Amino acid sequence: MGIFDNTLKKLEKAKEILKNLEGQKVEEVFEILKSPQRVITVTLPLKRDDGKLEFYKGYRIEHNNFLGPYKGGIRYSLYVDEDEIKTLALLMTLKCALIGLPLGGAKGGVNVDPKSLSEGELERLSREYVRKIYDFIGPEKDIPAPDVGTNSKIMDWMVDEYLKISKKKDIYLLASFTGKSVQNHGLEGREEATGKGGEIILEFLTKKLNFKEPLKIAVQGFGNVGYNVAKFLFEKGHKIVALSDSKGGIYCQDGFDPTLVMKWKEERGSISDYLKENINDSKSKIKITNEEILELEVDVLIPAAIENVINQDNANKIKAKIILEMANNPTTNEAQKILESRKIIVIPDILANSGGVVASYFEMLQNIKNEKWTKGRVFSELKDYLFKAFEEVWYYFEKFNLSLRDSAFTIALKRISQAYQL
Ligand code: NAD
Repeated sequence: MGIFDNTLKKLEKAKEILKNLEGQKVEEVFEILKSPQRVITVTLPLKRDDGKLEFYKGYRIEHNNFLGPYKGGIRYSLYVDEDEIKTLALLMTLKCALIGLPLGGAKGGVNVDPKSLSEGELERLSREYVRKIYDFIGPEKDIPAPDVGTNSKIMDWMVDEYLKISKKKDIYLLASFTGKSVQNHGLEGREEATGKGGEIILEFLTKKLNFKEPLKIAVQGFGNVGYNVAKFLFEKGHKIVALSDSKGGIYCQDGFDPTLVMKWKEERGSISDYLKENINDSKSKIKITNEEILELEVDVLIPAAIENVINQDNANKIKAKIILEMANNPTTNEAQKILESRKIIVIPDILANSGGVVASYFEMLQNIKNEKWTKGRVFSELKDYLFKAFEEVWYYFEKFNLSLRDSAFTIALKRISQAYQL
């Protein structure tokens, strides 16, 4: 079974919950959500710097727009295929609904390793992608953003290409893409917002549970999301005892300062050798693998890289008390069952990592109204949105004894169904 069908299974459970607990019939809307509304597949020719012509496969999948224009990131990775992008688009539909944003769900991607391209090649490929999907994009239609392998520079190229094709100077068209650089009408704090949201949500949960602090935390994935969530949690006084990127991980019982580790990674390319030169006490430091990081004795485990890393092979070995899903879909359905039976609390992706799309929504508002938001305003309004969503999820969790994931999916489905009825 593919990951899209696996994610639909979670939604099917939410459909049953709505029927059993609240007598709501959501069959029809569930049937509709089983298929994306539009699947755009494109072939992107790229002339490499050495003159060779290559072709890359790209997607933009618009899952559902009952609540508003489609919204979702663009991923550059060799794992990109239709099933992955379709699943991420469905998760965006549910995430926007859960948070109460007037937006639907979409996702895009190109099957490419961005590290294998020069900067010029990356720019040409990104502009070609926009030329191919231009007709479907715009502030009232579909608004892309960064995701794995893309960043604000790529969004700047994309919006520039979009404006060139549109031949219009309307300021509000800048809202066609979010996650742009701050110098180019992007939002202060957008880059950090997904990580900030994770920190906020984790704090809401630990307060409800009266959890003893400081927390011992392990973070798998040290890109935009993993780094920022680790940085904010470190600044709050928690101990970041383990970090990893695609090349492997590091553990230190006394904890790391994520900012120092990131500085090292930027200069040297990977964090796995950080220990050699930076921590002297040999007993407290070890290199670990990306499998080992998931099984450490910690309070909180944060998967912030790729899908399906927590699965039936390792769910029984996980020792964390809380899993904060900053990556999309890091836990398989089989693993979720095992974790539930072991009373490990999983904060689901559509809640944990929703800070990014909330900030993207603020960026749209900023562009449409031609305003300039401060980072303080962004983080304060972000907290308000997340508080409301968290409290709703918590209400279902307590009242009906559901998992946090079932609560979140149920609320999302209910909201989409209400929009459909209207
Ligand atoms: P990124 O490309 O900036 O970083 C990904 C990180 O994961 C890199 O450090 C990479 O080395 C590491 N990685 C890759 N494969 C790995 C593996 N097998 N084991 C361990 N680490 C590995 O991407 P990102 O934007 O930080 O996104 C990370 C996750 O967060 C994705 O699942 C993404 O969909 C999700 N997410 C991102 C945003 C956002 O605003 N960027 C918002 C919501 C959710």
